[in-house]
Amino acid sequence: MPKLNENFLKLQNNYLFAEIAHRTAAYTEANPDKPLIRLGIGDVTLPLSDIVLQALHQSVDEMGNSGSFKGYGPEQGYEKTRTAISDYYKRNGVSVDADDIFISDGAKSDTGNITDLFGHDNIILIPDPVYPVYVDSNTMCGNQITYISATAENDFLPMPDHNQHVDLIYICSPNNPTGACYNKKQLQEWVDYAIANEAVILFDSAYEAFISDPELPRSIYAIEGAKKCAIEFCSLSKTAGFTGTRCGYTIVPKELVFRASNGEEMSLHAMWNRRQSTKYNGTAYIIQNAAAAVFSEEGMAQCRKNIQYYQRNAQIIANTMTELGIRFYGGLHSPYIWFECPNGMDAWTCFDYLLNQIQVVGTPGAGFGENGKNFFRLTSFGNYENTVEAMNRFRKLFC
Ligand SMILES: *Cc1c(COP(=O)(O)O)cnc(C)c1O
Repeated sequence: MPKLNENFLKLQNNYLFAEIAHRTAAYTEANPDKPLIRLGIGDVTLPLSDIVLQALHQSVDEMGNSGSFKGYGPEQGYEKTRTAISDYYKRNGVSVDADDIFISDGAKSDTGNITDLFGHDNIILIPDPVYPVYVDSNTMCGNQITYISATAENDFLPMPDHNQHVDLIYICSPNNPTGACYNKKQLQEWVDYAIANEAVILFDSAYEAFISDPELPRSIYAIEGAKKCAIEFCSLSKTAGFTGTRCGYTIVPKELVFRASNGEEMSLHAMWNRRQSTKYNGTAYIIQNAAAAVFSEEGMAQCRKNIQYYQRNAQIIANTMTELGIRFYGGLHSPYIWFECPNGMDAWTCFDYLLNQIQVVGTPGAGFGENGKNFFRLTSFGNYENTVEAMNRFRKLFC
């Protein structure tokens, strides 16, 4: 019998979405005449933009022609796609070398796989609440996690403790699940702290396209010194509706060089290149062409229309929370609204209450960490009419 990776026994929250589905199905079965409104899932609903579809169709045709057929591509990604991303950053005022960009099938894979580059005795700082991938991927390889509390008291934007040393820091901004977004000054403090501690920041910017204030940083590389201490993960999932199409990218600057215990220099860029070349054979040519189209000026203009549709939903939810005096975070630079469960309810009680009273399904904050136990996440990824109707039901319930 093989010895198993028993770290899997330590994984928690396996049942969050299963439990939501179970309770929802039970309710629907008992109440078939009461239609549900689902504002729970973190998945987009609007279809791909025209320019993306054109690129997809055209690339499919190329694959059917012996003159333009493509086999294995470069493991790091096609230059066209990497350059399109680098140009997109430039238009946002951030300089990133196309050579430092690695194309992947999504940010979940990369944020999960990055543990391959690090040893197992690091002090790893992860916020609570958090996107569960950071916690689970570290748990799976037996790493210890040090949690940093994100709470209403710090506006869900925890800052470094300068008296404590850490080696790795996970930051997601704008945040899933809380919707909170760091400003430049706050991220500068994290970068300065990381450099002082020779720590590496693992920065997840999956929601950067939802930032509407030009003063807020959309990339960690908008911060001075970040190339010496940060890896950035991003995704086309929320930016361009690619949750089913699958494409993301990771930026590993060549400046990230550290010393091994034997004194040899090790480059994280070279290591990630080696890791990807060994365990990943590249993102489909068809998808990379569509991704390049996303990052063109016309592509971004089309994607922005979809994002604005979601932002309008977020605004409707946020306005309703304000009107009802329910304390909330996010909604402005994020598709998520993270609200404090009214009347002292805990998150699962709130889930059942909303399901039973107004047939609105959301996500209990408890699924994202201890600090989410009295919070609840709604998303703006639903359609406009349902969002308006859900908020009308909220008004009747909590007025
Ligand atoms: C949705 C999401 C991603 C994107 O994951 P993909 O694998 O690219 O679809 C990454 N990070 C966070 C925090 C997310 O919520």
